Amino acid sequence: LDGLTGIFNKRFITLRLAEQVHRALEEHQSLAVFLFDIDHFKQYNDRNGHVAGDQLLRKLTQLVQANVRQDSLFGRFGGEEFILVLPGADKAQGLAAAENVRKLIAEHAFGLGADQPLERVSISGGVAACPEDASESGVLIRSADEALYAAKHAGRNRVLGYVPHYLGGEAQEPVAPADFHVPAEPEAPPLLPGEAAAARRLEVDGSRADETGPLNGSDLVALE
Ligand code: GH3
Ligand code: MG
Ligand code: MG
Repeated sequence: LDGLTGIFNKRFITLRLAEQVHRALEEHQSLAVFLFDIDHFKQYNDRNGHVAGDQLLRKLTQLVQANVRQDSLFGRFGGEEFILVLPGADKAQGLAAAENVRKLIAEHAFGLGADQPLERVSISGGVAACPEDASESGVLIRSADEALYAAKHAGRNRVLGYVPHYLGGEAQEPVAPADFHVPAEPEAPPLLPGEAAAARRLEVDGSRADETGPLNGSDLVALE
C-alpha cells in the first residue's frame, strides 16, 4: 500500500490492472480506467506548505474512496496522480463515473481550495476502456494518460475520454519512391452532423454535461 494515503501503490495497482484486463477479456466484460491528476498542486504546496499538501492528498483520497463502488480499485500512481480501475464499466460508464469523481472534488470545500487558480481544488482526468480502446493494460494506461494530458490542455477541471487518432498529427504518409505512381485515394467523407455531435459528446465537463451529453444527472442514476 501507499504509505501516505493507504490506497494501493503503483506497483500493486499495475499488477491488479493487468489481472483485471485478462479477466475482462476472458469473460467478455468491459473495464474502464480513469487516470487523474490534481490541478496546480505545485502551487498548493508552494502556498500552503508540503505538510498541507500531504494532508490534501490524504483528504482527497478518502473522499474518492468513500464515494466509488466497492469493486473499484483505487491506486496512487505518482505524486499527485491517481488511477481508478472500474471493472465491468464500458467507456460511457467509465466517463460517467469519472465525471462524478471530478464533480465531487470540485464541489468539496477543501480548506485552502479558494486560493487555487481555479478557486477550488480540482482534478483533470482521462478515461480509456477495454476492449474499446485497448486490450493490454499498458496501452490502456497510456491511452488514459493521453486523454488526461488533453484535459489539462483544454483548461483543467474536466475529464475526457481517449480518442483514437489513427491519422493524428504525427502520423506520416509512407514515402513512395520518387518515380512510383501512387493512384489518388478518395478523401475520407466529412463527419455527418450526428457523428460530429457524437464525437463532441465524448468531452464531458461541468458546464456542458447538463446541456448536451448522455452523461447528465438523470443518466448517471440510470447507469447505476
Ligand atoms: P498541473 O495542473 O499541470 O497538474 O500542475 P501541477 O502543479 O499539479 O503539476 P506539477 O507536476 O508541476 O507539480 C506537481 C507537484 O506535486 C510538485 C510536487 O512538489 C508535488 N508533489 C508530488 N508528490 C507530492 C507529495 O507526496 N506530497 C506533496 N505535498 N507534494 C507532492
Ligand atoms: Mg498536477
Ligand atoms: Mg502530475
